[in-house]
Amino acid sequence: MTTANLLDFDLDGLAAFCEQLGEKRFRATQLFQWIHQRGVADFAAMSDLAKSLRGKLAGAATVQPLTVLSEQASADGTIKWLFDVGAGNAIETVFIPEDDRATLCISSQAGCAVGCRFCSTGHQGFSRNLSTGEIVGQLWYAEHTLRARGMARADGSERVISNVVMMGMGEPLQNYAALLPALRVMLDDHAYGLSRRRVTVSTSGMVRMIDRLANDCPVALAVSLHAPNDALRDQLVPLNRKDGLESLLQACRRYLEFAPRDFITFEYCMLDGVNDSPAQARELLALVQGNPATRIACKFNLIPFNPFPESGLSCSPRENVLAFAEVLRSAGIVTTVRKTRGVDIAAACGQLAGEVQDRTRVRERIARRVVPIHAAGGGAAPMAPVAAQRERA
Ligand code: SAH
Ligand code: SF4
Repeated sequence: MTTANLLDFDLDGLAAFCEQLGEKRFRATQLFQWIHQRGVADFAAMSDLAKSLRGKLAGAATVQPLTVLSEQASADGTIKWLFDVGAGNAIETVFIPEDDRATLCISSQAGCAVGCRFCSTGHQGFSRNLSTGEIVGQLWYAEHTLRARGMARADGSERVISNVVMMGMGEPLQNYAALLPALRVMLDDHAYGLSRRRVTVSTSGMVRMIDRLANDCPVALAVSLHAPNDALRDQLVPLNRKDGLESLLQACRRYLEFAPRDFITFEYCMLDGVNDSPAQARELLALVQGNPATRIACKFNLIPFNPFPESGLSCSPRENVLAFAEVLRSAGIVTTVRKTRGVDIAAACGQLAGEVQDRTRVRERIARRVVPIHAAGGGAAPMAPVAAQRERA
């Protein structure tokens, strides 16, 4: 038998693994608690497990932690870890403490194949999917490392992390097979016990997979919208060319029948001169309120664009962001402007790029990638007309 990484299993998976070793399910529950609730990786230290089981585990399994390459702390308390996932790839995980919660932003892939215009992960191209163990390993490491530093929440629980957002590197719904057991570990009362409302999957909009998530493990859903019409969204989020806004919003509506919250959060990255005019805010309103085919209960989270050198884009001025928010709010839509955290350590949204990449391989990947960035309307329009479009709107 090859050695199994027990971080790869949800409780059912671990029970099946224990059965293969001739052990009962309740042993799996104990083992699961040792690993996830107590952060123990050494089977010898799991004192209430039978010696015979500990012996079997030692031969057949490990709890394989991620390899930390670096840790950076921001002046605002944000912490970013860079983990080595082999073959020149690194992923990033960000811890964001706030007054009433502590959120861990987790990566799902090394790189990303979606290739959004404004995202540094997207510019980097796709390396590979993370395993369940690598997704869960980010939470396991952060929770137990910070707990050991005495950073438990003040609410009497011994836990540190209260919320997880799948908003790090990668498109989680393009790594569904590994994501699903990882979500189950996050939610399991014998592991992290997070409520479905406090675990958020953020997606650039994979319609079919949104339906599967609704069916398999409905957690809070955030959808990265970024544009009020297909012509612009086609340019910013390439997978929109496959599933346009109408089918995306209909999938969101179907999701709400299963979701733990009664609204979808739409993320909207504010790009100067591209998608940030009051007219575009009104077009967005018409989309989510006025059109019977796309109407939906939603909140908006406006994300000031975090620039990175290769993007060629800039962040909307503060007054544009506020004016945009006002249009949405005045129509009764709850709209927040995301506070930018950890900018001094490049830990903000869209800045994660796993710096220690093997740059040669990355360059080769980018050269191989055929991403028609300016394909709106079928033509080869350069980015400038997008700004012009805003003028017209
Ligand atoms: N792939 C998923 C989740 C990861 S990205 C998705 O796209 O939803 C998490 C959020 O950060 C998304 O809303 C994404 O659009 C946003 N984002 C990406 N690059 C950004 C940047 N440079 N500045 C601000 N937000 C960005
Ligand atoms: Fe991928 Fe999300 Fe970045 Fe788009 S915004 S490239 S989907 S990580």
